[in-house]
Amino acid sequence: MKENDFKNFINNQWIGDSDNIINVYNPATGKSIGTVPNFGAEETRQAIEAAHKAFKAWSKTPAKVRSNYLKRVRELIVENKEELAEIITKEMGKPIAEARGEIDYTANFFEWNAEEAKRVYGRIIPGRDENNRMQVIKQPVGVVASISPWNFPAAALCKKLPAALAAGCTIVIKPASQAPITAIKLMELFEKAEVPKGVVNLVTGKSSEIGAELMSNPKVRKVSFTGSTEIGKLLIKQSADNVKKLSLELGGHAPFIILDDADMEKAVQGVLACKFRASGQTCICANRVYVQKKVYNKFVELFAKEVKKFNVGNGLDDNVNMGPIIDKHGYQKVKDQVDDAVEKGATLVVGGPGECKEDNVYYYLPTVLKDITSDMIIMEEETFGPVAPVQMFEDDNEAIQLANDSVYGLASYVYTASLKRGTKIAEELEYGIVGWNDGAPSAPEAPFGGVKESGYASEGGIEGVDAYLETKYISMNLI
Ligand code: NAP
Repeated sequence: MKENDFKNFINNQWIGDSDNIINVYNPATGKSIGTVPNFGAEETRQAIEAAHKAFKAWSKTPAKVRSNYLKRVRELIVENKEELAEIITKEMGKPIAEARGEIDYTANFFEWNAEEAKRVYGRIIPGRDENNRMQVIKQPVGVVASISPWNFPAAALCKKLPAALAAGCTIVIKPASQAPITAIKLMELFEKAEVPKGVVNLVTGKSSEIGAELMSNPKVRKVSFTGSTEIGKLLIKQSADNVKKLSLELGGHAPFIILDDADMEKAVQGVLACKFRASGQTCICANRVYVQKKVYNKFVELFAKEVKKFNVGNGLDDNVNMGPIIDKHGYQKVKDQVDDAVEKGATLVVGGPGECKEDNVYYYLPTVLKDITSDMIIMEEETFGPVAPVQMFEDDNEAIQLANDSVYGLASYVYTASLKRGTKIAEELEYGIVGWNDGAPSAPEAPFGGVKESGYASEGGIEGVDAYLETKYISMNLI
C-alpha cells in the first residue's frame, strides 16, 4: 500500500485492502489525494464487536480518567492543527483559515466534554415514607455509532465523539466518503493518546451497507447522524425494528431577517459570515435573506459591494477566502436554483457560475439575487452553495410568517436594535437556534440542534453528553 492509502481503525488495529478502495478527490484540483478502504457490513460488525467488548471497562473507568484522555487528545489536536487543517482544505475545499477555525472549534468540543464528563449528575427524590429512598442515576447508553457529513470533516464528528466518550460510551465512526481522511488522522491521535483499544473505531466504505449493519445490529444502542434530511428519514425507518435511539442533525434552510432599525454595516457582516462560509455549504448558513422595505435597497447595495470582494480559488492559497463546490451534483443544484429564480423574475446583482479549466472542479461565484418571491425553488429547497436571495417584507409579522414557512427548523437569524422586536421575533421563530445580531452563534457550551425536519436532539451544551446517557430510577426500601 502507498503512503496515501489510508486505513481503517478497528480495535486499535489499522486495517486496509488495497484492492478495495475509494479515491478521495480534492475539489479544488480534481486530483486524488489518497484512498480509503471501501469496506462494508463485515468490517462494521468487527468494529461493533470491538466497541462492545471495550464498553464494559470504559463505562466503569472513572469520569476523571476519561476526562484526562479527552484532554490529552485535545492537546494533540492543537499540536497537529496545521496538518489537520490542510487535510480538511484538501478533501472538502474550504479556505485554510476556515479549516484552522474548524480545528480550534473541534478542540473546544474536547475541552468542553472533558469537563462535562465529571458533571454527569443524578438526583435524590424525597422518599414516599421514612424507609423509602428514591434515586435517579445516569448511565451510558452503550455502543454508539456516529455517521457524519463531508462539510465539517472534523467538527461534525467531534460534536459527537468526545461527548459519547465523556458519557462512558464506546463508538463506531462512519465518516463521509468524500472527506474521510481528517477523521482517520484523528484516530492516529487517539492511538497516540493511548485511549484503550476498542473504545474508538472507524470504518469507511459503502454507506448503505455500513448504515444497515449499524442500524440492525442490536449491540449498537444509539446512532448519532449528521447529514441530509433524506438519509435521516431512512434511518428513522430503520430504527423502528429494534427501537434504536437516534440523534438527528439534518438539513436546514435558515431565514436571515433584517429589520429597518438594524445596524446595516453589522447586518451585512453578519450575512457575509453566515452565508459564505464553506462556500455556503453549511447546514446553518442563511438560505433566505429577508430585508424590511425601508432598508432593502440600501442593504442590497452594501451587501453586493462586499460580496464582490471575495477571492475564489484553491483554499490552500492564503489569499483565497472562498473555495469550490464539493462536486458536480452540488454545483448543478446551485445553478438550477439560480436559473429558476431568474426565470421567475429575480435579478442577478452579482455572481453566477465560476470558470474552471480543470476537470471535475466546480466553482460558483458568491452570488446575490434580488426581487425574490416565495414561489422560487431557492426559497424552499436547501441550496448548499454561495447564493444569497434577498426578499423584501413589510412588517414584523410578515417576516415571522415568511421565516416559518419551511419544513426545516435548524438555524435562524434576526438583526434589530430593538429589544422588544428582537425578543418577540426570537420567541416566534420555529427554529432550534436563533442568532440575534449574531451571524455565527455556534459554540461548544451551547446546545445546537433543530426542530421540524431538521431533526431532533442537540449537540454541545449540557445536552451534548446527556444525549449519550440513559436515566435509571432506583426505588429502595430500608427493611
Ligand atoms: P448525506 O448524503 O446525508 O451523508 C451524510 C452521511 O451519511 C455520510 O457519511 C454518508 O456516507 C452517510 N450515508 C449516506 N447514505 C447512507 C445510508 N443509506 N445509511 C447510512 N449512512 C448513509 O449528507 P451530505 O451530503 O454528506 O451532507 C450534507 C447534508 O448534511 C446537508 O443536508 C446539511 O444540511 C446536512 N448537515 C447538517 C448538519 C446539522 O448539524 N444539522 C451539519 C452539517 C451538515 P457516504 O458519504 O459514504 O455516502
